[in-house]
Amino acid sequence: MIVALTGGTGGAKLIEGLAAEIDPAELTIICNTGDDEIFQGLHVSPDIDTITYTLGGLIDTAKGWGIKDDTFNALQQLHGLGADTWFKLGDRDLATHITRTRFLNEGLTLSDATDRIRRALGVKSIILPMSDERVETRVETQQGQISFQEFFVRERWSPEVTAIRFDGVESSHPGPGVLEAIHHAEAIIVCPSNPITSIGPIVAVPGIRSAFTETAAAVVGVRPLIGSTAISGPAHKLMKASGWKASALGVAQCYSDFLDTFLIAEEDKDLVEAIAAANIETACTNIRMTTLADKRRLAREVLALVEK
Ligand code: GDP
Repeated sequence: MIVALTGGTGGAKLIEGLAAEIDPAELTIICNTGDDEIFQGLHVSPDIDTITYTLGGLIDTAKGWGIKDDTFNALQQLHGLGADTWFKLGDRDLATHITRTRFLNEGLTLSDATDRIRRALGVKSIILPMSDERVETRVETQQGQISFQEFFVRERWSPEVTAIRFDGVESSHPGPGVLEAIHHAEAIIVCPSNPITSIGPIVAVPGIRSAFTETAAAVVGVRPLIGSTAISGPAHKLMKASGWKASALGVAQCYSDFLDTFLIAEEDKDLVEAIAAANIETACTNIRMTTLADKRRLAREVLALVEK
């Protein structure tokens, strides 16, 4: 069994490649839930949805979120009724959030709800929320603190960030199956997801980070930035706000207690020696993924490092 840690967009690209290169039933995915939020009274889990839609062949690859060819009639109607509609929810996408919310209202856990939805959509890989308890990523800005979705979607990540917090994380527990998956993993892959707001909340859940540091399995990561800039989104900005350098060395240092091998961009090869000093092996390659062929090639390279 291979275990992958991921957020949404960047991680989903590698997950798609991995699921095409190995038996998807051999892949267990631990997913960030710090971005979860209630919209229109519904529990939305953006990262779990992106991974589920990707593996179910439903994802809108152009947008990187939501269901391909979806329509937005319900959202338009909600807007007419006075609702706040800056967070876009498509008509077919809404069915997922309605179903998840119904399951939660019926007393199911987020893990159970996630498992039922992924099975119904024909996804063979196991998708585990990092925790069944609410952990909320809060972004502190000079204008006050906001949720991650308010920062990322509504404010288009423009406010200056002073700090990032994961409310509720100290008292949270790993979701059912998370620690077992790590203990039984042949290899662990840290996807190219935002180190602060996607991988950060997962490893902040008490017990998860120590399980990674203690595992005998190889832990291989792919960097989500090239040079000092994220391929997309605010990872570089949030790293600096959290006191890390956005360089390949900075990301390596962020993961230094659990990462064995780091796959970084060819453009960053001058940092290989500095990263080796942090006791992490490095391999350089083209880490950009645009086509399915790119995703599969990078997945093969990660799997080769795992075997090594
Ligand atoms: P989020 O939950 O939507 O923020 O998704 P993730 O955290 O999983 O993904 C965001 C990260 O993916 C950003 O830091 C991007 O730089 C990174 N990313 C996006 N596309 C690519 C790519 O093609 N290759 C790599 N290596 N990283 C990427």
